[in-house]
Amino acid sequence: MGNRDKFTGMNSIKFNQYFKTDEDCRAYIADIKWEQGYHCKKCGNTKYIKGSRLYNRRCLKCKKDESPTAGTMFDKVKFPLLTAMNIVFKIVTKKKGMSTLELSREFELRQKTCWSFKWKIQQAMQSSKQNPLKGEVHVDEFYIGHPEEQKRGRSKGEKRLVVVALEKVQDGVGRAYAQVIESASSQDFKPFFNNYIDMNAVVITDEWRGYLPLKKEYPNLKQIPSNEGKNFPDMHIHIMNLKGWLRGIHHHCSEEHLQGYLDEYHYRYNRRNSMSSMFDLLVKKMIVNEPVRLPKKDN
Ligand SMILES: [Zn+2]
Repeated sequence: MGNRDKFTGMNSIKFNQYFKTDEDCRAYIADIKWEQGYHCKKCGNTKYIKGSRLYNRRCLKCKKDESPTAGTMFDKVKFPLLTAMNIVFKIVTKKKGMSTLELSREFELRQKTCWSFKWKIQQAMQSSKQNPLKGEVHVDEFYIGHPEEQKRGRSKGEKRLVVVALEKVQDGVGRAYAQVIESASSQDFKPFFNNYIDMNAVVITDEWRGYLPLKKEYPNLKQIPSNEGKNFPDMHIHIMNLKGWLRGIHHHCSEEHLQGYLDEYHYRYNRRNSMSSMFDLLVKKMIVNEPVRLPKKDN
């Protein structure tokens, strides 16, 4: 370990030179997992010796043998670690990601298997909610899953309502977040606002009454006429692009999993100007975050 530089960037030739075997992946994961030092998961001891397998660590005190992947999102993956690393790399570095159908073809895995792993990746792509949008922030909602525009304030049947917040910066558009909500009511808007928008932000919405009660917490909230979206051109483009991407993967994903796709889309979107660190940051999240399991009914 520590014999070579950590892989960063998004060059697939370099990626393939760096990651040739499962052991290369284990070394990479071990470096990240224990970069702040080793702590035995069982007893907390910090001294270790070599474990039963290359890159494993064995606690000197309680003899617990730990693999680099134990307790990470790479634990118990049903295919080689090298494939897992490749999937993460593709999803994060391809502009539009990869659908489970494409993954299944490229890696010769069952689509369901790809879906389970991609779901984990999407969990790691969730925002930390630690960097709320600031300055001027536009907010709007849209329906997905039905071609026709529906009456506002309701979410029924197969269509889902999504609220989007978009940060305006000097030379255009900054970051954005989106969340599936039950209805276009202040009650449903509130958690989204609280998670993603700074209270001092100048929030601009159209004149929908559902936003009005939020003025209590967001004193700089302004409502202006939408003029059929013409007063919100950046938001209009953002929603069009998001919808277009969702439509492309739509028949491979159920509506229930929409939130995962919104997180995936915005993970890449919000890092579009710092793409070279996207892969290693995501792998780090997959190592540091608690392992997640798919809801039972999806297994
Ligand atoms: Zn121990």
